[in-house]
Amino acid sequence: MAYLRALIALFALVLAIPAMAAPVLARHVTVITLSTMLADQGIGEWGYAALVEVDGHRVLFDTGAHADVVLRNAADLHIDLSTVEDVVITHFHDDHTGGLLALRKAMMAKNPAALSRLHVGAGIMADRFDARGHLDNGFPALARAYVATGATLIEHGAPVMLVPGLWLTGPVPRHHDETNFDTAEFVHTTTGAVVDPVAEDSSLVIATADGPIIVTGCGHAGIMNIADAAQAITGDARLLAVIGGLHLFAKPDAVLVATAARLKGLRYLLAGHCTGIEATWRLRGLLGLDRHTAVVEAVGSRFVWGEAHPGIVAGDIAG
Ligand SMILES: [Zn+2]
Ligand SMILES: [Zn+2]
Repeated sequence: MAYLRALIALFALVLAIPAMAAPVLARHVTVITLSTMLADQGIGEWGYAALVEVDGHRVLFDTGAHADVVLRNAADLHIDLSTVEDVVITHFHDDHTGGLLALRKAMMAKNPAALSRLHVGAGIMADRFDARGHLDNGFPALARAYVATGATLIEHGAPVMLVPGLWLTGPVPRHHDETNFDTAEFVHTTTGAVVDPVAEDSSLVIATADGPIIVTGCGHAGIMNIADAAQAITGDARLLAVIGGLHLFAKPDAVLVATAARLKGLRYLLAGHCTGIEATWRLRGLLGLDRHTAVVEAVGSRFVWGEAHPGIVAGDIAG
């Protein structure tokens, strides 16, 4: 009888263990750069935007600095953004938000649902101010104008899967002290004013069978912290690719060395915007990458995975 009770207890225990869900993996991935400083096609600017496509689902990631640059670059690259419904804004800085309203208005004329869902990290609405006390977060007013077009704003406080295999990190835990933000900008807290860490800064993480792909706008959370988040979300200790702005342009060499040590094993680096050309060059050497696997990003650059010829398609100027 005791044996039977033990067997029943064991059976109940097995039933109580939740089934380990298999990770949802992306099979076909394309990331196309639509705003950064260098332009292989179209117009360069200090800003960032990319179109991310995962198994047929498309998400616009940031919107550039000037109102019309992503619109014009998409047209030059023959990309129709009117069929894209989801937009991510990584953080409140206007070199990532500048095209949002113009893009929504232009595209909704063709499709009312175009760019109609905006995903942001929690904290983006916080009041920020400069050393003279002037408020300088333009995002809440922009968000009100955007929502007034019939669109929806969704704040995420934790990682969320936007489409199968494609995650938005939400605010990234800061285990590493990378300080990848302007120390002359401030934010109010319950204990007084502190340097603004751009807490809402969020990145995309694409889970693949070959490891996670990270797409980051300005990297204010720090690429080491973002790598931690990507590996925690996917449960995969590898790193396939890092794409976007890493905000390393003014960092001393010791930081680049530490960054490369944390990113050891990374297979592809397509670095644009605030990464810095010198930092990209240095990371290439430290990571043991070459001109085909570590490239300065340009408007029109692509990263493709799951296709016949995967990897970076740099275009002419950076290739
Ligand atoms: Zn920024
Ligand atoms: Zn930026």
